[in-house]
Amino acid sequence: MSAGLNLAQLEAVNHLGGPCLVLAGAGSGKTRVITHKIARLIQAGLEANRIAAITFTNKAAAEMRERAGHLVGREAKKVLVCTFHALGVRLLREDGEVLGLKKQFSILDTDDITSLLKDCGTTTDAATARQWQWTISAWKSAGLNGAAALAQARDEHERTTALIMQRYEERLVAYQAVDFDDLIALPLKLLGEHAEVREKWQKKMGHVLVDEYQDTNATQYELLKLLVGERARFTAVGDDDQSIYGWRGATLDNLKRLPQDFPELKVIKLEQNYRSTSAILRAANNVIGPNPKLFPKTLWSELGEGEPVRVVDADNEEHEAERAVARIQSLRASSPHKEWRDFAILYRANHQARTFEQSLRRAQIPYKVSGGQSFFDKAEIRDLCAWLRLLTNNNDDPAFLRSATTPKRGIGHTTLQQLGNFATQYKLSLFEALFSHSLPSAVSNRAIGALHEFGRQVNDLEYRARHTVGHEAARSFLTEWLKDIGYEQHLYDNEDNDKVAAARWTNVMEFCDWVAGRCGGKIEDEGGTTTETERKTLLEVVQTIALISTLSEREQDQNVVTLSTLHASKGLEWPHVTLAGVNEGLLPFKVDDDELSGEVQQQRIQEERRLMYVGITRAQRTLAVSWLKRRKKGRESVPGAASRFIAEMALDKATVKEDPREKLKALRAEFAKRAQDGSAEQKATA
Ligand code: ATP
Ligand code: MG
Repeated sequence: MSAGLNLAQLEAVNHLGGPCLVLAGAGSGKTRVITHKIARLIQAGLEANRIAAITFTNKAAAEMRERAGHLVGREAKKVLVCTFHALGVRLLREDGEVLGLKKQFSILDTDDITSLLKDCGTTTDAATARQWQWTISAWKSAGLNGAAALAQARDEHERTTALIMQRYEERLVAYQAVDFDDLIALPLKLLGEHAEVREKWQKKMGHVLVDEYQDTNATQYELLKLLVGERARFTAVGDDDQSIYGWRGATLDNLKRLPQDFPELKVIKLEQNYRSTSAILRAANNVIGPNPKLFPKTLWSELGEGEPVRVVDADNEEHEAERAVARIQSLRASSPHKEWRDFAILYRANHQARTFEQSLRRAQIPYKVSGGQSFFDKAEIRDLCAWLRLLTNNNDDPAFLRSATTPKRGIGHTTLQQLGNFATQYKLSLFEALFSHSLPSAVSNRAIGALHEFGRQVNDLEYRARHTVGHEAARSFLTEWLKDIGYEQHLYDNEDNDKVAAARWTNVMEFCDWVAGRCGGKIEDEGGTTTETERKTLLEVVQTIALISTLSEREQDQNVVTLSTLHASKGLEWPHVTLAGVNEGLLPFKVDDDELSGEVQQQRIQEERRLMYVGITRAQRTLAVSWLKRRKKGRESVPGAASRFIAEMALDKATVKEDPREKLKALRAEFAKRAQDGSAEQKATA
């Protein structure tokens, strides 16, 4: 088991008794320490279900589960590998009743919250509501509730927001719903205020491991402390230079507090990088150089000097995309062993993906966009999720509103408003109000009929979902349900373009397959092998859906080029990386706010610099950094300047080199010729 670990890593893996912090640069094997330590703990006799490993994304959790599986086999399945938020769900589903929360509480998504806040603050302006959402979320991450926020409000704006926050809190209780911040805040309250629950979990948790520790926020840290208790059996791994979620409340103070809060903390540093060539590492070290240091470290690598980092000056966005795609084609052509999955194009903001998508499509190169609009954000999928949420929690009012009107069923805005007023007056959820005998006389008989019909349908579906087990039954349930509510017709009615409606319907089908698949049972794959997984009821599966924001589990094995934001690329690696749009104004990103103090400006630049460092250190073999001579700003095209970070990478030719433009012309000719030859291979993979 010690295979593939250096001495410092081994020391971290073998330190089982007390708290341990691995503080080390990118690619030094921190995540590897976590997976190996899971194996070591099991080998040392700790039951797998008493180990929790906390990762930053669902995707990282899936990957870690898989890697741990390779090391220890089936036992690894019992380890709780999840994000802090999913851990929160687990705690609340198991013990939330102590806080008055029903087992089947709902988790609100961003849209639900915006519309709820519009209501609480009596505004119709989504931008204002989102501003409140942002502030409330920041307060929650800092551990404040509405009352506390009100007490320390500094101006009128903060006072108003705190009052809205209090109203919002009341609504959440009434709806038996929680938002994302609550998934940390409520478990914290649960463990903090209820000794018996706390002791139960502290006894259960034999060891807690945390990856990407530098990006935890204050409440997550408190939760960790409560979970591990005085025995403090935990391992945290992180890199202060990769802290890129300061804007979401993550704080490096957590790193500084660890040795103070746990004097017996074992701190281990790793300096050997196993990911990148020396040229890439030099560029990374140079970029992060100007930032203040929590602790000094120099990464080194034995993987050889490698090629200098290519700096690409592109005329505009289209040209940049064309050059990135040409680079991928030529690298892939140079070796038959390179796969599409070896390549990634990374950028600062989601909207930058579009031009690359277009170029890749044109070149018939398969790709996926990660960290951008996910499948689950599509309107049709949100519709279905609202319905499913309503089945698991009838009191979920936002889900009620969406399902009652999608597809249209004779329940209009006025009816809903009257129902809403009535519900508020009697402290009922909309669903409860629906069946009340004393509905206001203003509601027409026809509307009442439609409401009752809707209520009956929901009850009936809920009953059936509770008794539907396994993927086959789930699949036919879902098909029948969609027919019952007339969803396909609804898509065609609401879309002028039939092709778009058809595409939406395909998404719906894909979603149903996915949901059904999670209900378990015997599944035969294309090769004819049958596997059997644990059977679950449809209702159980649906309860977990609100939390899953991407189809990442499914995407994992796809052999495709990755397009990703820099934030979403954290912890990952690819042999060949292009960092795009490395311009002043884009990276570092410029916010037009002259009122920011010099200190805040400086901190922002430092965080952007860490983001650049994260980007550079994703690359294993080759790295290209491109910038735009002219870039789009709104509808205009404005002159662009190379980012200061490009100059900071290095000035020497061994580390960075300009990418010659003539190459593109030659490549273009070559690929044009190949396309004419009808490259069968390209078509087969597309
Ligand atoms: P990041 O800071 O980007 O999250 P990390 O410190 O978590 O990076 P890992 O992802 O664990 O680093 O490791 C980087 C790469 O180096 C992986 O491909 C991993 O398999 C490999 N690696 C780590 N340690 C060793 C080792 N001792 N021997 C060989 N390869 C290693
Ligand atoms: Mg890692």
